[in-house]
Amino acid sequence: MGKVYIYKCENYDEINAKKAIEQTIASFDVLKNIKKGSNVVIKANLVSAMDPEKSATVHPVLLKELTTYLKSKGCTVTIGDSPGGIYTKTFLNHVYNVTKMNETGAELNDDFSVKKAIFKEAKVLKTFDYTGYLDKADIIINFCKLKSHGMMKMSCAVKNLFGTIPGTMKPEYHYRFPNHDDFANMLIDLNEYFKPVVNIVDAVIGMDGNGPTMGNPKKVGCILSSENPYELDYICAKIINLNMDDVQTIKESFKRNLFNPEKIELNDKLDNFLVKDFEVKKGQNSIAFGQNENGLIKKIISIGGNRIFTNKPYCKTKKCIGCAKCRNICPAKAITMVNGKPLIDRNKCIKCYCCQEFCPVGAMIVKTSFLVKLLNKKQK
Ligand code: SF4
Ligand code: SF4
Repeated sequence: MGKVYIYKCENYDEINAKKAIEQTIASFDVLKNIKKGSNVVIKANLVSAMDPEKSATVHPVLLKELTTYLKSKGCTVTIGDSPGGIYTKTFLNHVYNVTKMNETGAELNDDFSVKKAIFKEAKVLKTFDYTGYLDKADIIINFCKLKSHGMMKMSCAVKNLFGTIPGTMKPEYHYRFPNHDDFANMLIDLNEYFKPVVNIVDAVIGMDGNGPTMGNPKKVGCILSSENPYELDYICAKIINLNMDDVQTIKESFKRNLFNPEKIELNDKLDNFLVKDFEVKKGQNSIAFGQNENGLIKKIISIGGNRIFTNKPYCKTKKCIGCAKCRNICPAKAITMVNGKPLIDRNKCIKCYCCQEFCPVGAMIVKTSFLVKLLNKKQK
């Protein structure tokens, strides 16, 4: 098992960013001793065409520092991602421009081929399509952002590799793996297939609340890294006050013996980095926190089962501008537009929260179930 490194970085000033990235690089032999001429692909989280100050995407200053170092070693550096939506040069160039990837000094992926993979060792993802530019990598670096996430609760290292699936095809994968445990295993399979050599988290300013795109910038003040994405996610979850049962990718990777929480070594005290008021919607996969209940709550749980823990997508109609993006992205075809507003068929909804992720004005939110609210209150 590997180590998780955590370095303070209070803001995105160049001096601070340079220091934290240099410390990160110095922690990994694979980066220190990188071979001249290597093709390095940085799979960054560029979830949407949004200004970096909104905190949905990896900050360009960090990517610039990493790119500058790799180029000084004679490497070719390419940054890429495939956010939801069409996977074309025009669309991605728009994303690169708005997220300021042009300022990083890296090449920006311009190969939009789609490749097919057969992965016999996978738990659930035996075959899949992926963004072909990744094939040119001698090594892949996974550079993600620490954010709340409607479906998976936390977006961090493991979730970031969903961006290896071409944007247009993502809804198909939600539909193929509607069960959240299977979806988590699909993400883990992607990590096992691509095996980034290093995983780095931009947690300088993360995102809480209505993440991963319409939440609030939230200072965490550090950069974390590890060769093991599961250990890294486990530590990041702890920082934002989540436990293993809250985040399915962590729970499932533990079950698959891909990490052992007791063997994680940290270079600094975790207590120095905890953010107690990082807002994440619990529920759905947080059954564990209801298991120790007694009395009335226990009775309600025994009658209602999982259903009563289930959060739901919910449209704040006053905020909604009627653009129908949610309807168009919904993999289950559960949304129809009625009088210019989305109507969700709860029987069809698979709770993938794509509608929440891609609503451009934050009108679609994750509504916490009543019982989860009650249990959260009790726990405070
Ligand atoms: S309504 Fe929203 S959460 Fe439900 S399946 Fe459609 S996109 Fe997913
Ligand atoms: S994507 Fe958002 S703004 Fe557009 S119709 Fe759906 S809820 Fe309304």
